[in-house]
Amino acid sequence: MKKSFVFILLVIISFAGADITVEYKSSLTPEVIKTIDIAGIEYFNVYELNKTFKANISDDLLDQRLNVNIYGEQLIFLMDSSFLQYGSDYFNMTHEIIQQDGKYFLPVIFLTDILPQIFSSRMSWKTNKLIAKAPIDNSIKRIVLDPGHGGKDPGAIGYSKKHFEKEVVLDIALKLKKKLEQQLDVIVLLSRDKDEFVSLQQRTKFANENNADLFISLHCNAHRNSKINGIEVYYLSTAKTDEARAVEAMENRVVYEYEGGKEAVKKYDDLAFILADMAQSEHLEESYNLGANLQIALVNDTEGYDRGVKQANFYVLRGAFMPAVLIEFGFLSNKEEEKKLINSSYQEKLIDSVFDGIKDFKMKYDQMQ
Ligand SMILES: [Zn+2]
Repeated sequence: MKKSFVFILLVIISFAGADITVEYKSSLTPEVIKTIDIAGIEYFNVYELNKTFKANISDDLLDQRLNVNIYGEQLIFLMDSSFLQYGSDYFNMTHEIIQQDGKYFLPVIFLTDILPQIFSSRMSWKTNKLIAKAPIDNSIKRIVLDPGHGGKDPGAIGYSKKHFEKEVVLDIALKLKKKLEQQLDVIVLLSRDKDEFVSLQQRTKFANENNADLFISLHCNAHRNSKINGIEVYYLSTAKTDEARAVEAMENRVVYEYEGGKEAVKKYDDLAFILADMAQSEHLEESYNLGANLQIALVNDTEGYDRGVKQANFYVLRGAFMPAVLIEFGFLSNKEEEKKLINSSYQEKLIDSVFDGIKDFKMKYDQMQ
């Protein structure tokens, strides 16, 4: 008896004519939400809210709930119920939510009546049209890749004395940009695309001015002891270990050597640092997560020695108002690692790993927005 009822319900679902237009109070092109008739009631597929309002939709089968996040606000729909919860308020849609083939359908009254009530400052209902403010899209769209050093500053010098960090990281950056843009639907900007000197301050300024969503600084390491090798990723904070301090001192040395000695160091150290540090601390957790993704991908793909995700106080990360990390791909001062780092198929491996790490981070990050 119950089965045949469900069957009949399926059969009588048909497309109805009265679709709903969403018009934005900006230059965005209007969208149409298709409505369908289910047993005489107008419904729409809840995923249309993703298209029109960048809503984040997730079902919680354990608690029998459907969570819809719009404009950063959480709406909770209770399965087999006509009620939805917003904060401590409940709204009655008069008809219950329908679940079918992994899809969820909400009564159209949600669009015409309830949504404009909840978001009265953002949208209104006017005869067949929902007039709404443009949705907030916080997904990662712009990435700045920052190949370290350049021009008069060679960075780390290879064991063979023939290869420089500035060349290796520029090679990697150029190829990585291409792959990211082709396969991840993002815009990639480079802080330098040729062998030129760019100050540390200019690098983050460039990222901030271009509204980058991620800042990734690319480097190769060096150590007095040529046996030292491996991969490490840094995110900003006060350097925690002596080794992290040593790498920090080396990468920061550029300020002293190439940007005007003590005066320049003082300039970076003053108020600007405090402000930048505050701005960055907001992104500390995200920067750590991005760093961890990159480190895992790099170590897994290259089987390089895992030196871990570390905190250090790099000038180049201080001024970035976005999740920011610094990758040390390996030690040019190590004979074996130098050979690898200048080898184009090994570079491809590094590029694939960083790509995977960014992709993984982006997917999780975009979901949270
Ligand atoms: Zn470097």
